[in-house]
Amino acid sequence: MISIVIPIYNEEELIEQLNEALASALKGAVDDYEIVYVNDGSTDSSLELLRGLQAVDSHVVVVELSRNWGHMGAINAGLQTARGRAVILMDGDFQDPPEVLPRMIDAWRKGAEVVVGVRRSRQESRKMLAFLFPLFYRVMGSLSDYPIPLNAGIFSLMDRRALDSVLAMREKNRYLPGLRAWVGYKNAIVYYDRQDRLGGEGKLSFISRIKYAMDAITSFSYKPLRLSFGLFGFTLSVSMLMLLCMFIPKSSVATAAFGLASAMFFVGGLVMLSIGILGEYVGRIYDEVRNRPLSLISHVHRPQVSIQTETGTIEVPVGSYGIAGGLSAMQAGSFQEQDAA
Ligand code: UDP
Ligand code: MG
Repeated sequence: MISIVIPIYNEEELIEQLNEALASALKGAVDDYEIVYVNDGSTDSSLELLRGLQAVDSHVVVVELSRNWGHMGAINAGLQTARGRAVILMDGDFQDPPEVLPRMIDAWRKGAEVVVGVRRSRQESRKMLAFLFPLFYRVMGSLSDYPIPLNAGIFSLMDRRALDSVLAMREKNRYLPGLRAWVGYKNAIVYYDRQDRLGGEGKLSFISRIKYAMDAITSFSYKPLRLSFGLFGFTLSVSMLMLLCMFIPKSSVATAAFGLASAMFFVGGLVMLSIGILGEYVGRIYDEVRNRPLSLISHVHRPQVSIQTETGTIEVPVGSYGIAGGLSAMQAGSFQEQDAA
């Protein structure tokens, strides 16, 4: 089974149309699916519409949140509820087109464990955002300490293993495209043209977008913390140059004021240095608090040993089930039964 997770906040204009579009996109592409709609404290008739859909469509799961928690909060609740072997995450406003889903599922069937929807083009009626998105991705691309696919949002498919790894990270300020890249596993990209919202208004406020961008940068880059080291180098060099100027004989710059300015740059440099050192510590404290795992295992391949039992030959990984030192035929037989059960 495949799960589709969709956060919904005041989308009454689109819900029924969306459910129909998903059903026709998924028909033929998968045998079984569930659509997990997360109602993020909508104040319009979204919840009633979703419950109405549920009455007639057995694929629909509705998660009701206690209030409006915001995009990421809704997504997280949906991901935790989804039971599929793979989970697709998308927005509920047709900006992530349902027609792309079969291509994502196809890539997953071919072995990808994370399929990322990357925007080839973007329809954005809001001019401000059309300007800010590329700027954000450029800054993120140059700052990030870990390669994160640019021009990719939440629209993606995650295999159960990758999803569980993402969910195991308990950090509160989540930048999902970053976490999804950070866990690794076999990745594939599906390019698509991001559409304009089909109806209703954009729900994310400008402030919440700025917060999200800051989450992205601070959770995947030490560079802002290290800025002080750069500034330290700069102020120290300026101060040294000024000091040297003081020794030019009969020069007009060899004045007390100039000497004072040089000293100020020097002290400024020392302050920057201490802030930089503090930053190194703060960065490490941040790592500890986030408690991300040091590594994630994708597969464990062990050499197999063949064991003869009364019922035939079985292949068992060396070292597992306490059989490293040899296993009696009886034990091996009982293991096989358990396995079958
Ligand atoms: N959304 C949500 N909670 C919120 C704001 C938005 O669940 O507090 C949902 C919204 O219904 C939509 C998705 O998140 O399905 C993306 O929101 P929107 O389209 O407004 O964001 P944009 O595309 O403008 O970035
Ligand atoms: Mg949108």
